[in-house]
Amino acid sequence: MTDSFDVLVIGAGPGGYVAAIRCAQLGLNTACIDNQINHKGEPALGGTCLNVGCIPSKALLESTEQYHKLIHSFPAHGIKTAEASVDVAIMQKRKESIVEGLTSGIAQLFKANNVTAVHGFGRLTMDNTVNVLDESGKITRTLMARHIILAPGSMPSHLPNIPFDHEFVVDSTGALNFEKVPGRLGVIGAGVIGLELGSVWSRLGSEVTLLEALDDFLALADHQIASEAKRQFAKQGMNIRLGAKVSKLSKSKGGLKIHFTEKGKESSIEVDRVIVAIGRRPATEGVVSADSGVSVDERDFILVDDECRTNVPNVWAIGDAVRGPMLAHKSSEEGMAVAERIAGGKLHVDLGIVPWVIYTSPEIAWVGQTEKEVKEAGTDIRVGSFPFAATGRARAMEEPVGFVKMIADAGTDQLLGIHMIGPHVSELVNECVLAMEYQASSEDLARTIHAHPSLSEAIHEAALAVDKRAIHRAN
Ligand code: FAD
Ligand code: NAD
Repeated sequence: MTDSFDVLVIGAGPGGYVAAIRCAQLGLNTACIDNQINHKGEPALGGTCLNVGCIPSKALLESTEQYHKLIHSFPAHGIKTAEASVDVAIMQKRKESIVEGLTSGIAQLFKANNVTAVHGFGRLTMDNTVNVLDESGKITRTLMARHIILAPGSMPSHLPNIPFDHEFVVDSTGALNFEKVPGRLGVIGAGVIGLELGSVWSRLGSEVTLLEALDDFLALADHQIASEAKRQFAKQGMNIRLGAKVSKLSKSKGGLKIHFTEKGKESSIEVDRVIVAIGRRPATEGVVSADSGVSVDERDFILVDDECRTNVPNVWAIGDAVRGPMLAHKSSEEGMAVAERIAGGKLHVDLGIVPWVIYTSPEIAWVGQTEKEVKEAGTDIRVGSFPFAATGRARAMEEPVGFVKMIADAGTDQLLGIHMIGPHVSELVNECVLAMEYQASSEDLARTIHAHPSLSEAIHEAALAVDKRAIHRAN
């Protein structure tokens, strides 16, 4: 059976499903092919993000943060409880029901927008033809479209000497599904996943050691934010070992031994479980056949231009499978932009203004360039910062931790980067994204009235501090 569409999307993650819905809204006859299945073996739309990424991780982070607060912050409020305990099975069930609610919500949105959902593995061949394969690799359908959007996403990278057994040695998906709290947890890679999932299990009582190959902690973030984060995580009991190059894993009497070199010396730690979180790679294997003509680079990323066009006319690619940060909102924005372009419109995605959030406690968020990046570019800057401890709201919340740091061009005052660590900065950063999107100056934020008492006053004061006129701290 051959079916013809205006647009065929391969992958229903936040890139693909958003692209499909927007194409349908724009009047294009659209189908979306996805091969993800949930723990019940049923098709589940939403990709990595909804099924095994952003959403389940945030559900567990929220549960465990509440538990941590109950023990560590509530007493300061005068709230006392009998002994607190955790039921991991209930916590995991809550996570699963959130995931199910959201993934089935995408199926309903597809129906409401007349997007045809096709379950299977899509492979682009020549002439805009896509074969749909079942699990055994058999072609079950052949679809054609005027435009193809490739959105296959990414998968965890693995270490050659440390294969996953999906029970004791796991990737992020396994780490979201532990049925009980590991006694000693080794995390290879102190990046975003290592810190978020390390926090989840540390809050529940695991003894967590993060082994990071680089000498710098959180090399992507601004150095001041990263060093405050490291201090806070160490205070919470997470053991972060930098410059730790992992070589192999062996079985030991009491569990597993991770072997690594640290500052040139051989070392090892014994753990009960290991999470490997050393980055993700594009899930592009088999998505484009050789005769499709689509170019892929040596790291398996699909090559695209600034507008997400591949080298083949009318074949587009978006999300984790192409250059740029591997973030859900970046994928979605590219999906919307491509839909608009297919329909004859225009929408530009500025990869320089993509917010980053790490959902640890305290949270970490930023948009734009770090101080190191702007200095390396030779730009003269002015920097203002302001601590949450000097805001009434953070104190009232019993969370007087962290700060906002704002970097502006010394000549034009245009905002170049805004970095923060502290309570709810995942929400606060979006004001800064909007400001940068409008090419605002620090003076624009300094002249914007912020509600009192609110955490956002730290942004206002950091903007005032750029000009050395913060009110609630000495300049
Ligand atoms: P994906 O979400 O990976 O979706 C691709 C889909 O395509 C999948 O369903 C896949 O099965 C399917 N597919 C692949 N190939 C084919 C094919 N040939 N045929 C049919 N279907 C195919 N990002 C954030 O912004 N915020 C977060 O808080 C966050 N937390 C995360 C936590 C974890 C534990 C992980 C692992 C990731 C997290 N991310 C987060 C990253 C985020 O999940 C990804 O950036 C995002 O999902 C990428 O979207 P995408 O649409 O490009 O691809
Ligand atoms: P990451 O790139 O954030 O961190 C991987 C870390 O592992 C790096 O610090 C790297 O230096 C280190 N590393 C690499 N090889 C190593 C080795 N052999 N031994 C020890 N350390 C090693 O990758 P991740 O944490 O796996 O996450 C993947 C991506 O998923 C992220 O980059 C991000 O794009 C996305 N993600 C985003 C969020 C969020 O937005 N909150 C949450 C989770 C994941």
